Amino acid sequence: MALVVQKYGGSSVADADCIKRVAQRIVDTKKAGNDVVVVVSAMGDTTDDLIDLAQQVSPEPPARELDMLLTAGERISMAVLAMAIADLGFEVKSFTGSQAGVITDSVHGKARIIDVTPGRLSGALAEGTICIVAGFQGVSQDTKDITTLGRGGSDTTAVALAASLNADVCEIYTDVDGVFSADPRIVPAASRRAFLTYEEMLELAAQGAKVLHLRCVEYARRFDLPIHVRSSFSLDEGTMIVGRIEGDPMEQPIISGVAHDRTQAKITVLGVPDRPGEAAAIFQSLARSEVNIDMIVQNVSAVETGRTDITFTLPVSDGKAALAGLETVKGSIGFESLQYDEKIGKLSLIGAGMRSHPGVSATFFSALADAGVNVQLISTSEIRISVVVLESDLDNAVRAVHAAFGLDTESGEAVVYGGTGR
Ligand code: ASP
Ligand code: MG
Repeated sequence: MALVVQKYGGSSVADADCIKRVAQRIVDTKKAGNDVVVVVSAMGDTTDDLIDLAQQVSPEPPARELDMLLTAGERISMAVLAMAIADLGFEVKSFTGSQAGVITDSVHGKARIIDVTPGRLSGALAEGTICIVAGFQGVSQDTKDITTLGRGGSDTTAVALAASLNADVCEIYTDVDGVFSADPRIVPAASRRAFLTYEEMLELAAQGAKVLHLRCVEYARRFDLPIHVRSSFSLDEGTMIVGRIEGDPMEQPIISGVAHDRTQAKITVLGVPDRPGEAAAIFQSLARSEVNIDMIVQNVSAVETGRTDITFTLPVSDGKAALAGLETVKGSIGFESLQYDEKIGKLSLIGAGMRSHPGVSATFFSALADAGVNVQLISTSEIRISVVVLESDLDNAVRAVHAAFGLDTESGEAVVYGGTGR
């Protein structure tokens, strides 16, 4: 008998009919002789709606209370899904993250899982019960408060439970047939990847491919747990994410995909004195504000002034905190002013084959130039090139780069079954 962990995203459980269909799928997996643990997200756009609600009563709700509110979304879906399964005549129980043993640190809104103690799940499984677990939430070891793992965190719940229960596979069900070479909502000609390595998927997720949560891929890599990303709306095979792809590496595609991200903002610190310790002071301030920095660019200082500018990108949601933190150290650092820009988009080209194939940068920048897209910032890793462009140029840029690397397919195999991609 195998142990299967399945995760269903918000669009797969958007309404009563969807929930009944998912319940049937879970029951079929159980009937096939498997033990089944299911992690669910909140129904449809519930999480966004709850955030909107919170904002109507308070522009900056206390983080503890926001987590309390948001975790309610997953509680609704887990209970309703359990009811639908019970209705099909199967033993089933739902569990909150805390009941399932998901122990986190105490950082509200982006808590990290530090331990998983799934005793109650193992007990229920031993009795033949199907377990439904509320995704994206846990309980803090120190404060005992309820935490959330960050947007899209149910994937991470699923992989963490799969690892701790020693599951045979973790299936992530979503509203597309797997991981595509670009978001099919923007590039209808995007193609499905049958296999990806953790390394490639990590870069794709880090660069904004919303199909999987970044931490979930880190977790899977650490435990060498295969993830199968597939659609809950069809029976087709999706994308297997594994440590190593069998076969000749020369046969494997050079480029695995083009990711994009509209959730970043850009801050430029103008007129920073060019002496040791200034960058350290800036980034210490940002660390104190718990801000995650992505790209960083520093110019050569101007000879006349002995000053330089430092630009970095960060999640839009951290923008206010970052600006406030930097204002408080303005005097001690001695920079001149701050510039803030939310109207940016980031595009990233990712592929393990970049290491061994020259000319990738030339093709990439030519494609952007031909599309008339101006590049604001550039950063690279061994297997990635990222650029920041005007937000209004982003979709065009993604399509241009995707086509330039021959990733467009004729078949138009990408089907988006549901969801708003919000
Ligand atoms: N419901 C949460 C969100 O929308 C968590 C998840 O979907 O994984 O971000
Ligand atoms: Mg969701």
